[in-house]
Amino acid sequence: MAEYYGVTVEDIFNTMEERFRPDKAEGIDMTIGYDIAGEGGGKWTITVKDQTCSVKKGLASKCTVVMRMAAQNFVGLNLGKIDAVSIFTAGKVKIEGDMEAAGTSAKLFKRFKAEGAEEAEELIRLKCVPSIDQRFATGPIMGRFFAGLKERKFYANKCPKCGRVQIPPREICADCRVRCTEFVELGPKGNLLLLDICYYASPDPLTGEVRETPYAVAVVLLEGEGPVEKRESFTHFIKSSDIERANFGDKIRPVWAKECTGGFDDLLYFEIED
Ligand SMILES: [Zn+2]
Repeated sequence: MAEYYGVTVEDIFNTMEERFRPDKAEGIDMTIGYDIAGEGGGKWTITVKDQTCSVKKGLASKCTVVMRMAAQNFVGLNLGKIDAVSIFTAGKVKIEGDMEAAGTSAKLFKRFKAEGAEEAEELIRLKCVPSIDQRFATGPIMGRFFAGLKERKFYANKCPKCGRVQIPPREICADCRVRCTEFVELGPKGNLLLLDICYYASPDPLTGEVRETPYAVAVVLLEGEGPVEKRESFTHFIKSSDIERANFGDKIRPVWAKECTGGFDDLLYFEIED
């Protein structure tokens, strides 16, 4: 008889009744058919009713659910060598009938242990996609910037010592390390300094979505008072249809969302002003 991982398919069915867990079968009335293909395979039917379990050779004509798979996969699953979800999604297990019953059936039996097998430490894996609802306080400086976006305005802040204008605003001047408390409004128009065109996109870390390519990130110098060399540039997307015709120094203007809420999405992109 063909063995997989040192165990035959029959070994598993022969021990099913003794591995049955009546405490998990309360109210369950189902017939589970197995059609195991390949060497050492065959057909079996397990009936669970009134918290008892019986195993018979052959496939009953009426089953709640029938599971079809290769002998090697059947043994691997029962020994915990193969992950059920993985082989199901790979199409290597076919389930006919009540899907939910197939899931329930897994809980009705203690795991098969091969005779003389060493007690291995159980490896626990949790499969989940964590989604955590979070709220961040922006603080007074970035808070002012976001409040500005809500009004469709760009707020920067100015260093009292060197006159550097920072956008987005930061608490401290990056050059002088002194506190910047004065806010100044920039833009909303500006000039294009640089275009960074992307042809192969990576997924957006915030949404997991891939942006349509080509897209371009524009570095712009927003209009404002004071010397140009003291004003930081600002970076955002440029309208896709403007990528081809964009030139250094082009006048650009922001395109805002229909409803601005004081978030990253308020500014959609910049476009070239004709
Ligand atoms: Zn400074």
